[in-house]
Amino acid sequence: MIIVMKRDAGPAEVEAVVARLRDLGCDAHVSSGQLRTVIGAIGDREVIQQIPWEAMSGVEKAVPVLKPFKFVSRDFQPDPTIIEVRGVRIGDPSQFVTIAGPCAVESRDQLFRTAEAVKRAGAQVLRGDAFKPRTSPYSFQGLGEKGLELLAEAREEFDMPFVAEVLDPRDVELVSSYADILRVGTRNMANFTLLQEVGRQPKPVQLKRGFTATVEEWLNAAEYIYKEGNHQIIMVERGIRTFETSARNTLDITAVPVLKNLSHLPVVVDPSHAAGRRELVEPLARAAVAVGADGVMVDVHPTPDTALVDGAQALLPSEFAALMDAIREVAAVVGRRG
Ligand code: PEP
Ligand code: MN
Repeated sequence: MIIVMKRDAGPAEVEAVVARLRDLGCDAHVSSGQLRTVIGAIGDREVIQQIPWEAMSGVEKAVPVLKPFKFVSRDFQPDPTIIEVRGVRIGDPSQFVTIAGPCAVESRDQLFRTAEAVKRAGAQVLRGDAFKPRTSPYSFQGLGEKGLELLAEAREEFDMPFVAEVLDPRDVELVSSYADILRVGTRNMANFTLLQEVGRQPKPVQLKRGFTATVEEWLNAAEYIYKEGNHQIIMVERGIRTFETSARNTLDITAVPVLKNLSHLPVVVDPSHAAGRRELVEPLARAAVAVGADGVMVDVHPTPDTALVDGAQALLPSEFAALMDAIREVAAVVGRRG
């Protein structure tokens, strides 16, 4: 149940609703928006539903939650969530954020050359992974903590926050101690133990859509993180598996406005992992800006031919600079600063 307070409801009226819920043995989650306060009631549905909430002073309406997710829904929080990381605002309707870097950190030289190039072209956040989920156990698995150290060094050198994937609940503390944003990848979207673990640490989390997940399953995964206390969640559409084989995955561009309607969380598009091929990255990125995404995340590599992971989709620094121009152009049309 979501209890929506009247615009002019005061703190005492909010407190009275919260106290009533607690008396019933339920939990109350208060969200104070710009216009009004909304209270999420958590507990036995039958018990909550029998109370005439609308008769209480300051209550506008009590809405039963029909969707399985609650806190990440627009019903619960009408205002968009804006996540601020080192001055970068993800989810701000007037900004468009570009996250760029190598798929995997391979060496100091490779990371620094890429970071320098993406910074110069205007990217606001650096990406680079120290732990890679690989289809084959014999493929390069990432540099581990050494990779995180290099990313932290690059952050200082180029004044950019960075995002890195965490694969294992046992590594959450380690990755959280270095990274500005943690990422849960597509293969782990339904790893509920990992979701709970990242929900209990303080850094924002990028949650990639599972490549076989529906939007509802994806939002439920976000709910797992939110419920543990971490409300800084960035949804990342990265393509889903369909019958179509002309690209690595099918970028579900529809998911962006669908999510925007259903949820207050920021939405980022990863055209690189969706397409798997560099020539598709720019058109898909342009589409992402136009359709209302809050940002894109793009793979860049100084020498894609020698990349240890995902070279076919990585842009050269010069291609990335051209992409940034295209992004700014479309962003201006939709009223965002890119
Ligand atoms: C990545 O972003 O490097 C990655 C592994 O992506 P995904 O989880 O979407 O495959
Ligand atoms: Mn990759």
